[in-house]
Amino acid sequence: MRQRAITVSGPWFLWINLLFCLFILGRHYFSPSQQIASVAASVPVLEILMGLILAVSSSAIFILRMAHDQYAEWLSKFLYGTLLCISALWVGCFYVFLASGDSRIVFPFAALLIFTALISLYFDGRVLLSFTLPIWISILVCNFIYPSDLTLLNALLYLLLAGLFESGRRILRGWFVLAIRREQENRELIKQLQDLANNDPLTGIANRRSFHLLLEKAMQRQQQCGTPLSLVMLDVDYFKKYNDHYGHQAGDECLVKIGQCLADAIRSTHDAVARFGGEEFIILLPDAVEQQAIEVAERLRMNLQALSIPHAASPVMPYVTISLGIATVMPGTTSTRLIAQADAALYKAKENGRNRWQVFQHY
Ligand code: GH3
Ligand code: MG
Ligand code: MG
Repeated sequence: MRQRAITVSGPWFLWINLLFCLFILGRHYFSPSQQIASVAASVPVLEILMGLILAVSSSAIFILRMAHDQYAEWLSKFLYGTLLCISALWVGCFYVFLASGDSRIVFPFAALLIFTALISLYFDGRVLLSFTLPIWISILVCNFIYPSDLTLLNALLYLLLAGLFESGRRILRGWFVLAIRREQENRELIKQLQDLANNDPLTGIANRRSFHLLLEKAMQRQQQCGTPLSLVMLDVDYFKKYNDHYGHQAGDECLVKIGQCLADAIRSTHDAVARFGGEEFIILLPDAVEQQAIEVAERLRMNLQALSIPHAASPVMPYVTISLGIATVMPGTTSTRLIAQADAALYKAKENGRNRWQVFQHY
């Protein structure tokens, strides 16, 4: 948000400086002051100062517009230096006006610059100060160096403006901080909602809803590009007995371990593991032909076996085992059909004795 403020408000304020420069030059040329001419003597001081502001502002606008988002910290320092430099040039310009006795423009112009800076740079106290401080100090000092009938009144006005400036800065800064906090809270809230919508609360892996979305996308890609796609559906063997033997809480912990084990065993970030329901999980394997899906299924089975979670009540093995069904997309297969095929293969694996994988047979 600060980066956005720098790259939007920074150039806007530099444009204002450019316009002010053109105004000063226009004023100078359309009503050439004899006094300024005398200060300028042999060198056209005002033109040089305005030329420098024009050059520095326009190059800074260009740099800020082209800069990449990741350089926020660097850009803040850059803006700080640029504005310090422009501010010093404005101080020089005010000096030329005051020294030439043409002081009418100085005070209102300085106030205008300071309050425009406040509107555009309130979010960064250091940058705001880099521009306004030299101007504050110089108009105060000049007010006494070049006294007039209005010196005391000007000093009072100066104090009043300083108070207005600081209170305005605090109010704007407060809104800015609040906006940043709100944005962070909203981001966290959106992330929490996304987690709730897409992840299974027990195991933390994807839920059935997000699996369906991923499968639909993968099916579309498969139909467009003709790439292979496989599914592995798996179910924990005799899990009811596990719950009955160790308790429901231990059953939950076991499902968490299985979910983690499956997530660790998939091939890449393109593969997706989801909890399909109860003690059933499903794995989406894009770009996987049947043989690759078999390899993944066997790895899942072996990894869980290596984990060796005790299951004293299982008639298959003394540890927790899984049965797996594999289905690979054939031309014309829909997502619903593919899931049904993986489920049918899983049923067959159960029938054949559990703790094994089975490929769906197309007859
Ligand atoms: P099979 O080998 O045929 O799959 O036998 P099974 O006992 O695993 O299958 P069954 O469908 O009879 O039982 C599934 C059990 O899974 C029943 C249910 O209590 C348990 N279960 C489902 N979801 C959860 C859960 O979130 N936590 C726990 N602890 N148990 C669950
Ligand atoms: Mg089961
Ligand atoms: Mg089941």
